[in-house]
Amino acid sequence: MADEWQEQLKQFVNTIDRLKNFINLTPEEEGVLSSTQTTWGTTPYFASLMDRDDPTCPIRRQVIPSTLEQQNCYGMDDYLVWKENRATEEARPDSIARQYTDRVAFTVTQTCGIYCRHCFRKELVVDGDLKLDFNVDEGLAWIAEHPEVRDVLITGGDPFLLSDDQLEYLIRKLRELSHIEMIRFGTRLPIVLPQRITSGLKKVLGEYHRVPIWINTQCNHPKEMTEETAKGIFELLSCGVNVGNQAVLLKGINDDVETFRELHQKLLRIRIRPYYVFYCEPAPGIDHFRTPVEKGAELIRDALRGHTTGLAQPMHVIATNIGKIPLMPDHYILGNDEQNYYLRNHKGEETFIPNIPE
Ligand SMILES: *Cc1c(COP(=O)(O)O)cnc(C)c1O
Ligand code: SF4
Repeated sequence: MADEWQEQLKQFVNTIDRLKNFINLTPEEEGVLSSTQTTWGTTPYFASLMDRDDPTCPIRRQVIPSTLEQQNCYGMDDYLVWKENRATEEARPDSIARQYTDRVAFTVTQTCGIYCRHCFRKELVVDGDLKLDFNVDEGLAWIAEHPEVRDVLITGGDPFLLSDDQLEYLIRKLRELSHIEMIRFGTRLPIVLPQRITSGLKKVLGEYHRVPIWINTQCNHPKEMTEETAKGIFELLSCGVNVGNQAVLLKGINDDVETFRELHQKLLRIRIRPYYVFYCEPAPGIDHFRTPVEKGAELIRDALRGHTTGLAQPMHVIATNIGKIPLMPDHYILGNDEQNYYLRNHKGEETFIPNIPE
């Protein structure tokens, strides 16, 4: 018998009929779904978390395409080519995206367990306009020839949709390279398909090894976390794999103080460490999800820093072609003179400490 996670993929919710088992579609939703060419859908497990009647449900909005995707005022053309430095001099296989000297992103698949409406890789993953070749052995050969790369971030698509054997091969090959110090996976499956965390997967990821494995998942709203997610995360941690979160700041989904705080507190309750909050990137067709640039920093100031557990604080970053740029709230430092450094806390109270000369 196939594993439950494979069963979930066979029942992938990507037709109107299947979706109707979970929700009552509005006429607008049904209109878009019956006319769209885009790839959409998710697992039955994740679909079951949708609100049956509310089209503004944060899970519904991440899964069901909207007419707003046709509007595009701010999205940049050929966004991924710009963002992933694909037009640069250095010869690299399609699977390798590079912005830094010591680490690369290694794309191993284009398939996902959810086709997020806000995906910045939409051209590739969702709409398929950008055609790239993800030959794993070519990527591995390139990495083998680049001893300055010490950290490989395996991404997609969703790399955990590869079979246990394929993952085992990737990890084994990377660990054979003496310059590789760590392997990271970016995967949404702990959120959209926690059933993927099987004993087989644990065997592939687990055990003590010189080269550790770190995971970052993507969870954008407290509703996305269930008892099943919590257990899956515990299983990953118990085999030695750390799990962080990279949320995307999404207008109308998680950009209010209460939801933003609840998201980060709940992540910690299920043992996920908040890592990044991404500004919703200027990729085409996702204007309706995008907030003002400084919103993430404001939310950290108003919802998290000082207001709750310090661990509940991700770094707010803007992902660009030259790397991730942190944009954090800076209103805590009021200024300084020769004598003092003037500081302010989350409640607006002020204090100072002596300013020490160089
Ligand atoms: C995000 C990213 C990384 C990893 O960045 P960290 O800040 O180290 O998490 C590496 N390479 C590329 C191309 C990326 O987009
Ligand atoms: S899981 Fe990641 S790559 Fe896949 S559609 Fe969502 S954001 Fe894009």
